This record gives sequence, structure tokens and C-alpha cells, in this order.
Amino acid sequence: MKKQICKRCKLFVEAQQCPVCKDSNFANGWQGRIMVLNGTKSFIAKQVNMTHNGEYAIKVK
Ligand SMILES: [Zn+2]
Repeated sequence: MKKQICKRCKLFVEAQQCPVCKDSNFANGWQGRIMVLNGTKSFIAKQVNMTHNGEYAIKVK
């Protein structure tokens, strides 16, 4: 299945629903990506509120 990006938390999702916020509102376009491996310890993750491990888009349209 093609990856989609959750509009709310910007997480790349391979399901019909975001596993983090349970939202099914996906963005059509995105710019840049960031890999969060340890959401609670990563400085960047804290800055952008990425507390769930996974791949995130930096900007969504
Ligand atoms: Zn989400």
C-alpha cells in the first residue's frame, strides 16, 4: 500500500487510519522527511512534537 501522510501529526502511514491520532485525514503532498527513532529522547522530535517513532514529513500540503 502506498504511504500517506497524516495531516495532524505528519506521520507516514501505511493504513487507512493514523495509528497515533486515529485520524484518517491524509495530506496529498509533502516536503522533506525525517526519521524519528527515539521520539522521547530526540531533540528534534521534541521540537516538533514527534513522540511516536517512525517517518515524518516536515511539511504537508
Ligand atoms: Zn496522526
